Amino acid sequence: MFTAAVSATDAKPIPFNRPHVSRREISYITQAVWQGFTCGDGPFTRKATDLLKALTGAGDALLTTSCTHALEMSAMLLGLREGDEVIMPSFTFVSMANAYALRGAVPVFVDCRPDTLNVDEDLVEAAITHRTRAIVVVHYAGVACAMEKLGKLAEGHALALIEDNAHGLGGSLNGRSLGTFGHMAAQSFHSTKNVQCGEGGALLLNDAGLLARAEVIREKGTDRGRFFRGQVDKYRWQDIGSSYLPSDTLAAQLAAQLESFAEIQGRRHAVWDAYHEELAGWAAANGVRRPTIPDGCAHPAHLYYLLLPDLENRQALIGHLSEAGVQATFHYHPLHAAPAGTRYGRVAPGGCPITEEASDRLVRLPLYADLTETDVARVIDAVRAYRVCR
Ligand SMILES: *Cc1c(COP(=O)(O)O)cnc(C)c1O
Repeated sequence: MFTAAVSATDAKPIPFNRPHVSRREISYITQAVWQGFTCGDGPFTRKATDLLKALTGAGDALLTTSCTHALEMSAMLLGLREGDEVIMPSFTFVSMANAYALRGAVPVFVDCRPDTLNVDEDLVEAAITHRTRAIVVVHYAGVACAMEKLGKLAEGHALALIEDNAHGLGGSLNGRSLGTFGHMAAQSFHSTKNVQCGEGGALLLNDAGLLARAEVIREKGTDRGRFFRGQVDKYRWQDIGSSYLPSDTLAAQLAAQLESFAEIQGRRHAVWDAYHEELAGWAAANGVRRPTIPDGCAHPAHLYYLLLPDLENRQALIGHLSEAGVQATFHYHPLHAAPAGTRYGRVAPGGCPITEEASDRLVRLPLYADLTETDVARVIDAVRAYRVCR
């Protein structure tokens, strides 16, 4: 087909996500391969771990093969037993529920707040029973949960507090880094996250008493870590565990990414801010809600979402953007209503009506460090060309 000019639809489609390649990435990976130390706990694992600790201020950190595995480690560290209960939001990623259900615990799903879409801290206490062992939260879009209130609740009921901080690397609440409020926090370095090595994660430990056992759990239930440090003369099976230690080649990629954190974040914030500013008028005119960032929260520009008035308009906007060559997408399906959610979990009193509504109405726009200014402008124009139908 011959056309006189390149229209928006003929331009290259803008993907929802594209992993950033940082400056020293290839050189570090090459070094890791040549040094002949490609299994876990090598020099790059040390380097990436130190960078992560410096960035978050966490007491200790252990790299893992994924955030899912970091959550599974947290479940093992809690020593959960069949029938124990773990309180968590319904509006979150499946790995959170899976990790505790795998240990025989029952996920108890609580609704989210309408503003931040984080777990509603005012509903948590009513979900606590004599079987509750932990409260697990996710800082949605890297915007902090009400950690002060949740911390007091956990302390008052002698429960563990765990953060799924997959979205929150670099975010903070009243100047304190996300990932340092809970006894433990799980990070993700999946290719869709701000800092990535394809598949990877970390368990942050803010309770010094947890490190020794966490190391054993990560190393197939053995004290191999102590053996390599010369602290014991042989390593043996000590505890339950699995293989959660990532290869040093992946840690090399991660170290390079973490060294580029400021650069990555600078670009991501520029995109986030452009969306937020440029879509304000359109959102107001169309009854669309933009993200809410409460006072004291510094978010890390992990994702940009819009809440359309209803499911029909959300679907229509995704279709409209797709025709304009912009890949936008919905997000979590409520866990309490998922097939496995009803089988393995239960919903807290009052249900999760806000979660169900948010899940229907939410759309995420492309957001990554290498999104060009031209592409950002194209996304904004495409969104603005959509009129909400009522
Ligand atoms: C991405 C993500 C995970 C899973 O991370 P993996 O590293 O892929 O296991 C878990 N929780 C949340 C909130 C996430 O966004």
